Amino acid sequence: MIYDLIIIGSGPAGLSAVIYAQRAKLNAIVIEKMPMSGGQIMNTEQIDNYAGLLGIGGFELGMKFREHADNLGAKFEEGNVINVEVKDDIKRVYTEDGKVYESKSIIIANGAEHSKMGVKGEEEFSGRGVAYCATCDGAFYRDKVTAVFGGGDVAVEDAIFLSRICKKVYLVHRRDELRAAKVLQEEVLSLGNVEMVWDSQLEEITGDTKVEKVILKNKKDSSIREIEVDGVFIAIGMSPQTEPYKNAGIEINEKNYIVANEECSTNIPGVYVAGDVRTKSLRQVITACADGAVAVSNIERYLIEFKKRG
Ligand code: NAP
Repeated sequence: MIYDLIIIGSGPAGLSAVIYAQRAKLNAIVIEKMPMSGGQIMNTEQIDNYAGLLGIGGFELGMKFREHADNLGAKFEEGNVINVEVKDDIKRVYTEDGKVYESKSIIIANGAEHSKMGVKGEEEFSGRGVAYCATCDGAFYRDKVTAVFGGGDVAVEDAIFLSRICKKVYLVHRRDELRAAKVLQEEVLSLGNVEMVWDSQLEEITGDTKVEKVILKNKKDSSIREIEVDGVFIAIGMSPQTEPYKNAGIEINEKNYIVANEECSTNIPGVYVAGDVRTKSLRQVITACADGAVAVSNIERYLIEFKKRG
């Protein structure tokens, strides 16, 4: 069967896209990597900037998106997309388990994954004291000492979240100024059990069978500081997942984001991109949802032209 539209990814961008696609009566399918929709927000404790839903939990919002899509009859398949080909206007999507899906158009909406520090001990202790999601793994550190790395919204939110569970939290940032929203900065700086460690770069994570220490280097005076910790939370941003699209000639920039314009189209006709995986100025749930809507609206026009071409 040749679908009108294949949506790759079921985070806010992919789910918004399929909601619009169902309403437009397109023969669409969502391919999702995990058996659970929702993407990154499923690991977000609270979302305070999605209009009209002040303070909603990330998991709850993800479930609501999926429920909305299900109510409109959206179709989902589980699969890890490993390659995309475009030939004679037909897009072929290959999954790791050997399936091939064909469509007239696609929306790439498979988001991004946690960036790694790339330091000694990070991989070795991953899952044994090194984590990338405080809301998922924070509960393991009750009354313990943790260090969070990063200075963006996620790092600061993680430090705030962990401060409610842990005895002490170090928030280690490579500069002397946080990047996070001012409201979050004010909150974290007011917490008695969060210690800021400025201008510091993680050099190594050490331990025997589990994490015991982080070794930090001060970027201003090159001094070395060792801190005893039970857990390390790395929150230094996300890396877009664009590997499967390189063969198809889809334009990808030097930071690995798929190059898109405000219509969410790419350099390949019929290939659209939505959410965190595309070039854009603000990566949030609300802009991911907007992308899904914009992409489908443009695909509707693309499919009319597709039909005319016969
Ligand atoms: P981010 O905003 O890109 O921040 C990444 C942080 O990690 C920066 O402070 C950066 O330092 C630091 N960093 C990057 N590479 C590093 C390295 N190799 N070593 C040490 N530090 C490093 O990423 P994010 O916090 O994951 O947020 C991602 C996006 O989601 C953002 O657009 C954010 O606004 C959004 N978000 C929104 C909400 C919300 O609205 N409630 C919540 C969470 C996330 P520098 O500052 O020096 O560059």
